[in-house]
Amino acid sequence: MGNMNGHTSNEAQLKVLIIGAGPAGCAIAHGLKKNDISFSIFDRAKSVEATRHWAFTVGWSRPFLCDLLPEELANRLTECQVDPAIDCQSIGKDEIVIYDGVTKKDEFKFPVPGGKEINMRKIRTMCAENLDIQYNKKLLDIEYHDHGVTAHFDDGTSETGSILIGVDGASSQVRRCLLGRAAQAEVLPFVLMNFNTKYTAEQALFIKERLHPLVDIAINPSGHYIRLNVLDMDDRERPETWSFQILSTWAPKCVEDYDNETDRLKRLKEHFRRDNWAEPYRSAVEWAPDDTEVLRDQLKIWKTVPWENHGGRATLAGDAAHAMTFHRGQGANNAFGDAYGFVLAMKKVKSGEKTLKEAVDEYDSNVQERGAKEVQISKSQTFFTHDWAAFKDSPVMTMGTKPVAAFELPESAKVPKA
Ligand SMILES: Cc1cc2nc3c(=O)[nH]c(=O)nc-3n(C[C@H](O)[C@H](O)[C@H](O)COP(=O)(O)OP(=O)(O)OC[C@H]3O[C@@H](n4cnc5c(N)ncnc54)[C@H](O)[C@@H]3O)c2cc1C
Repeated sequence: MGNMNGHTSNEAQLKVLIIGAGPAGCAIAHGLKKNDISFSIFDRAKSVEATRHWAFTVGWSRPFLCDLLPEELANRLTECQVDPAIDCQSIGKDEIVIYDGVTKKDEFKFPVPGGKEINMRKIRTMCAENLDIQYNKKLLDIEYHDHGVTAHFDDGTSETGSILIGVDGASSQVRRCLLGRAAQAEVLPFVLMNFNTKYTAEQALFIKERLHPLVDIAINPSGHYIRLNVLDMDDRERPETWSFQILSTWAPKCVEDYDNETDRLKRLKEHFRRDNWAEPYRSAVEWAPDDTEVLRDQLKIWKTVPWENHGGRATLAGDAAHAMTFHRGQGANNAFGDAYGFVLAMKKVKSGEKTLKEAVDEYDSNVQERGAKEVQISKSQTFFTHDWAAFKDSPVMTMGTKPVAAFELPESAKVPKA
């Protein structure tokens, strides 16, 4: 029923259910909190640390994330870097360099202004501060009512709000609820290994000294990609405690490559011995202890298709809305772009400028168009990344790491920060 402001009483008591407390879900929660919009946030994990660990490069989306976070947290983003002592912008190294994996020659380069290499666990932990996240809450199902939506969790509990947003990652259950079979991911025909490892102090120093200060990426002309970086170095004085991330992809080259279960590190080592890799890639792989866990992985994507938002009562953001490969480094950037756009939409509902349906329709069409484009571009980048001769024609060479759609910067970003 409409009131004098032209919106329903339900919209006046707007309450958002956020499913997923990854970086994007938490960014949404902070943005809503700043604007006095009521919300509850849930995650299926047991605790803030209980998910896989990796690093990602934040570039163009940094002002949007910082605008959503309380100033005190935004000012601590540098602490979430894999190496908090590095300021790539001040040393002119806020760039992505693609090295030739055999010669270590810097073959291709493009800028990532203000880029930071972010430690997933640190940013999750920091962004969870001052939020009442309900862990151990795995969303199973969604139910719609005349003026709201109810989330049902695997522990038998449920919660009702005016709108539910699925920020529950690449294998999103919310997406499945909205789209059924059309929510299914596509598996790309590449081998993926993504793991963390430690070395002796001498080995760790040898590797770290040879890495690009932002993130080190190399492609072996045989068609094999590696991204190598330090992941955790809490005790700077004891390099034997540092952990490193090795992320490697390639098109299957032998029958064994199709085996996702066993001898994964052994196989990676065999490829690196055979393909004449330069340092530090060769040693970083060779020195990884043989008992290092290399979990089963697949390169999965989901190209966005429009979903029914049930009159503005359900939507998606982040990897749930567009699951892409990391070869153009756009997943987290788009997730923070979505988070910013969603909070903007909720502000319009709260002020009465738009109804919930109008605001969510507008948000959805932006995310859906941008998501579909970026998933496709990143997929194309993945194929080019494994074809050295053609790499010069790949999307990163023509558009770098820029977003596929124009974003208006938040007011807070227009004022230079100290
Ligand atoms: C190896 C690697 C390298 C990457 N490199 C880059 C890069 O350089 N640049 C870049 O921009 N992006 C990169 N990305 C992508 C980036 O990490 C993701 O886009 C980003 O983490 C997405 O954030 P999110 O909050 O949407 O999802 P997630 O971080 O996946 O968080 C989803 C949350 O939802 C919870 N959840 C899942 N299912 C349920 C459920 N049913 N109920 C309740 N909770 C649930 C999960 O526990 C999790 O906490 C990379 C990704 C990987 C894996």
